[in-house]
Amino acid sequence: MRVRVDRERRQGHNRCSMVCPEVYKIDDESYAYVEQEEVPANLEEQVRRGAEVCPEQAIVVSE
Ligand code: SF4
Repeated sequence: MRVRVDRERRQGHNRCSMVCPEVYKIDDESYAYVEQEEVPANLEEQVRRGAEVCPEQAIVVSE
């Protein structure tokens, strides 16, 4: 499974990183990014939930 954050859509409310801080990181301007697009198997569920709570639908998950 892979994940990325769409830079055009993202805003700075950080809900994703509250759900899965291991994958969703916050930069100096309070925007979310992922360090590594390949998701470890043990974090897949959390990553999906993080995508669901993003109000901008800025998180793109692909299986
Ligand atoms: S929840 Fe969505 S819009 Fe908010 S910081 Fe995370 S990716 Fe960005």
